[in-house]
Amino acid sequence: MADIQIHDKIFTSYISAERIKQRVTDIAGKINTDYAGKKPLVIGILNGSFIFAADLIRALTIEVEISFVKLASYQGVSSTGSVDTLISLKEDIGGRDIIIVEDIVDSGQTMSAFLPEVYQRKPASVKIATFLDKPSARKYAIKTNYAAFEIENTFVVGCGLDYNGLGRNLPDLYILKP
Ligand code: 5GP
Ligand code: MG
Repeated sequence: MADIQIHDKIFTSYISAERIKQRVTDIAGKINTDYAGKKPLVIGILNGSFIFAADLIRALTIEVEISFVKLASYQGVSSTGSVDTLISLKEDIGGRDIIIVEDIVDSGQTMSAFLPEVYQRKPASVKIATFLDKPSARKYAIKTNYAAFEIENTFVVGCGLDYNGLGRNLPDLYILKP
């Protein structure tokens, strides 16, 4: 596959749509087994997770509900930074089995801000399903339960992930060309 340009940067093919589909099917299979007889509520984190969330839930055979929240993370001047809630959770999640769906868990800041908000509402259980996991970039102690791919600490676009607003529609995943 050819390199592509987005804004000022060149990206090169990293993971094919075919391989992505395969891994999403694997994860969905695990979720189908783990949640057999249950009716989890999937909470997708906008914007990035919309494609993975759509692919994942269509591969689920269990009963499932889906909702979205919109979170924006800011790199503050201090090391803690902050996460802004642009669209908040409307559902009553008390007693529910929650699967949070993310595009990528990087520093872990977004999840470390959102998880307490979820636990405060007394769900029965909470797990994190992420399209990509960058464990080597972690600054907050966040562990994922289902990850389609563990990737190195580098910048990727495609499959819902953007570079300055562009690239979310790319079916393959691309990596910043060194
Ligand atoms: P966090 O650092 O809070 O774990 O991740 C924050 C957000 O940064 C992610 O949800 C994602 O939107 C964005 N992000 C982190 N790494 C990458 C990357 O490699 N590419 C893109 N496009 N976005 C990323
Ligand atoms: Mg995100």
